[in-house]
Amino acid sequence: MEFLTDMAAKRAELTPDAVAFIDHDTSRSFTFCEVNSRASRLGNLLLNRGLEKGDRIAVLCLNHPDFFVLLFAAQKTGLLLVPLNWRQPVAELKPVLEATGVKVIFHDGAFAETAGELAAETGVGLLPLGATGTSGSALDDLLKEASPAAIGCGRIEADTPWYLMLTSGTTGLPKAVIQTAGMAYANMINYSQAAGLTAGEKSVNFLPLFHTAGINLPTLPVFLNGGSSAILRKFDADAVLDLIDAGDVTSFFAVPAIYQALALSAGIGKTDFSNVRFLGCGGAPVPGHLLTDFRKRGVTICNGMGMTETGPTVFLMDKSHAAVKIGSVGKPQILTDVRLVDGEGGVVEGPGEGEVQFRGPNITPGYMDNPQATAEAFTVDGWLKSGDVGRRDEDGYYFIVDRLKDMYISGGENVYPAEVEKVLVDHPAILEAVVIGVPDDKWGETGAAFLILRPEEDLDTHELPGWCRSRIAPYKIPKSFFIVEDLPRTAAGKVRKNLLKDMTFAEKTPEDA
Ligand code: ATP
Repeated sequence: MEFLTDMAAKRAELTPDAVAFIDHDTSRSFTFCEVNSRASRLGNLLLNRGLEKGDRIAVLCLNHPDFFVLLFAAQKTGLLLVPLNWRQPVAELKPVLEATGVKVIFHDGAFAETAGELAAETGVGLLPLGATGTSGSALDDLLKEASPAAIGCGRIEADTPWYLMLTSGTTGLPKAVIQTAGMAYANMINYSQAAGLTAGEKSVNFLPLFHTAGINLPTLPVFLNGGSSAILRKFDADAVLDLIDAGDVTSFFAVPAIYQALALSAGIGKTDFSNVRFLGCGGAPVPGHLLTDFRKRGVTICNGMGMTETGPTVFLMDKSHAAVKIGSVGKPQILTDVRLVDGEGGVVEGPGEGEVQFRGPNITPGYMDNPQATAEAFTVDGWLKSGDVGRRDEDGYYFIVDRLKDMYISGGENVYPAEVEKVLVDHPAILEAVVIGVPDDKWGETGAAFLILRPEEDLDTHELPGWCRSRIAPYKIPKSFFIVEDLPRTAAGKVRKNLLKDMTFAEKTPEDA
């Protein structure tokens, strides 16, 4: 498909008066017609201020329905939205702005200080978005004078980049995954089809909207189908359980750490889940006991798997097999092909194991302004390499069994050890640092750092969390630090991280962060 429709305008035409969003904190609702009109006003305002198709605009705020208004305004105008991770300090956000060439940051009151510092250091402009005390929306005042006139011809080029999702990578440098409108629509079809979404859908979204899952799973596919999304500023177990208990939720998507928090929360025992039809889970391996725990409450969680680079939906478990294929991520969805490639580069047929590779309209064309990273991500015949090892069983169900890439996932957030190691070796007492992910009951995995000190140096590892805090996001700070004399290495001197996981440093006591 070369062209797509303007999604907000189309929905406003189909179901103008149906509720698209509910701002949970203020109970204010937004119809499809209002969302479209706000997005057109915002788009016109930005064009009138001199921004042009292809210019980059960033957003730094807690969740709010106006995030999606901004997203649709970007689609109408061809501006490229860059959602910023508010868990990152200025030191990490500044290189992101520089790498993406952002001209304006939309921000809410919660991040006024960070946005101000970024503006002072990089010269970007600032505009308000998100929650405010009085009307509940900082956009209301801004949009008063703006024209609600339709923008463009209502056709969106499928290949046009719509927004950029930031990831880092084994180098620790920011990489901007291009998300096109075509990819987003393909994801909506994959997800809607697998989750069986309808116009009666009532979703709740508490995932951070700077991740692909937050934008693309509990909300955009629901919007496409004419359903509504309640938007929470961020995850709050009691608020989510209250909404479920009131019958106001038919589906949502979350990472395992969120299900873990729900399972441990006091209110879960008295929550009535009878209106919930579909619960998706992904972003990290899900422990089998969580699936069993929810099943005992009469709730089936469907595990799934994707990547930022895949839009993200590729795999999603079907409800009818969730209880028998425990731990499986299901089958590849309707628009996406998957293959497994073994260590010799051969494609695995039938049951077997190999690197999971993807092809389809939901796959990114690459990383913005980074041809080298793009070339490395794909095979010569155009398949995206996941860096994950998968197993396909005799019934065609897939299981993610290992990772080839040097990455671990803490509470749903990816951590690339390279960026943590870099911050640690900047410490004057540290000669070498190696970080690995180790199992953690609450977060799935957390970091463990192994440190070799410089000669004659001494170090109290308790000071290291403080050292890291202003340099990297909190979830990247290792939970334990071990000072060691040496590390297991290959003949070429490379640290054997897999051996580190198994090694016990009996005489070294881990220092909790
Ligand atoms: P988000 O950042 O919005 O959570 P995501 O986790 O789908 O999105 P990425 O951050 O790109 O996407 O991380 C993708 C990686 O996460 C995969 O390559 C895989 O290693 C891991 N992953 C995702 N889902 C699962 C799962 N269900 N089981 C095991 N690993 C998973």
